[in-house]
Amino acid sequence: MKITFFGGAQCVTGSKHLVEVGDYKLLLDCGMHQGKRSLVDGWNRNLPFKAEEIDAVILSHGHLDHCGTLPILVRDGFKGSIHCSDATADIVRCMLEDSGMLQEQIANDLNEKNTQGGFITPLYTQEDAKQVFPHLVPHPYFRSGHQWVTVNENIRFKLYDAGHILGSSVILLEIQDEGTKKTLAFTGDLGREDVPVIHAREYIEEEVDALIMECTYGNKNHRAISHVAGDLKEIVSTSIRTKGKIIVPAFSLGRTQELIYTLHKLVDAHEMPLLPIYIDSPLAQSFTEIFARHQEDFSDQVMREFKMKGESPFAFKNLIYTHTVEESKILNMKEGPLMVISASGMSEGGRVLHHLKHGISNPNNIVLITGYQAEDTLGRKIKDGISPVMILGESHEVRAQIKVLDELSAHADQSGLLSYLAHTKGVRHLFLVHTEMPQATTFKQVVDGLYPALSTTIPASGQMFEL
Ligand SMILES: [Zn+2]
Repeated sequence: MKITFFGGAQCVTGSKHLVEVGDYKLLLDCGMHQGKRSLVDGWNRNLPFKAEEIDAVILSHGHLDHCGTLPILVRDGFKGSIHCSDATADIVRCMLEDSGMLQEQIANDLNEKNTQGGFITPLYTQEDAKQVFPHLVPHPYFRSGHQWVTVNENIRFKLYDAGHILGSSVILLEIQDEGTKKTLAFTGDLGREDVPVIHAREYIEEEVDALIMECTYGNKNHRAISHVAGDLKEIVSTSIRTKGKIIVPAFSLGRTQELIYTLHKLVDAHEMPLLPIYIDSPLAQSFTEIFARHQEDFSDQVMREFKMKGESPFAFKNLIYTHTVEESKILNMKEGPLMVISASGMSEGGRVLHHLKHGISNPNNIVLITGYQAEDTLGRKIKDGISPVMILGESHEVRAQIKVLDELSAHADQSGLLSYLAHTKGVRHLFLVHTEMPQATTFKQVVDGLYPALSTTIPASGQMFEL
């Protein structure tokens, strides 16, 4: 059995891990590389393997850096099944269609400006994205019992709840390799233990020979999630005092719903001054509808607080969902105080760019960063205090206050990762993925100190291991 790490290897995007058992090729995730276009476009267009040779895919979850190049895989000749949890299948349909539309827009914009010399074809189109849908094979988590799903005569798998976003899964593979049983687990992205809205992550019951584990925050610990409410109250009070805007770039899936839920609780408890809160992302609205269809994945606390009372956690007074581009544009002209939550989470595209363009130079405004910002993204530059920054082709001085709420991260921190490792029995090989080198190196040092007998590796892109 061989594993080759093709993406999410010493970087946090493009997750793709190929497992080969005899002639059978099973791909874990098929994610998009994100960041500087000149750097990642070629990696995304040219998959590092022959699509028609891949027999099946298992997806950990529906974020684009884990599923975003599926349309290219299918366009290039993939014919097999794409296994995932049932909520992930709903999310992937929505996510890929939107991504196809965005890719068409990007290509159109570049061709109109004609700065690239020559005609740019979209990475993929909305129509390409739709070709993925018939391949999706949804499975429940089987919370009571965790049943095996057979892939072929040598491979079966189970999904455990990863507690990262709705539908996110840890994939446990059981492989018969030339008469020997081997187990391999892939965490996908791992949630923190006290994640809001969805169920907390589960631990694998079986022994695991090799664990492929994400390590996004391998070098730091988040403050307790309870700090979020206090910080949000303070940020809202500042905005009311200065009559400024709070601009929140947020992933339309996960972070937006967690923010809405947290704000809803603050408003209900009269702990936060009221101000208009706009959700300016049609995609976030679609995902919020998907959340409503998968209430079985809500945490017991959310069920107690809202569902039993017949209320939606995602609707409250002063919360306004915008739909059209015109409604979005009007927000740019509105006076504060107000909050606008808009995608994309790393400020690499979407409506949030227009809000940043109009608001980032006003010292009364606040830009609130709520998630991991990958290298070379606009979000990372803003978080790192760089000024001026380029937004939609123009240079803008950053005079707004920059606030960071890492606690809302959907990723486990160092102690959460260590706790997950401690709860996973029998691990002899640990591969650290979905991480940048400083984070991975620190985490490896800690793991090496705690588990000297464990073989811990930070695989490079393209590196292959035989197990
Ligand atoms: Zn993710």
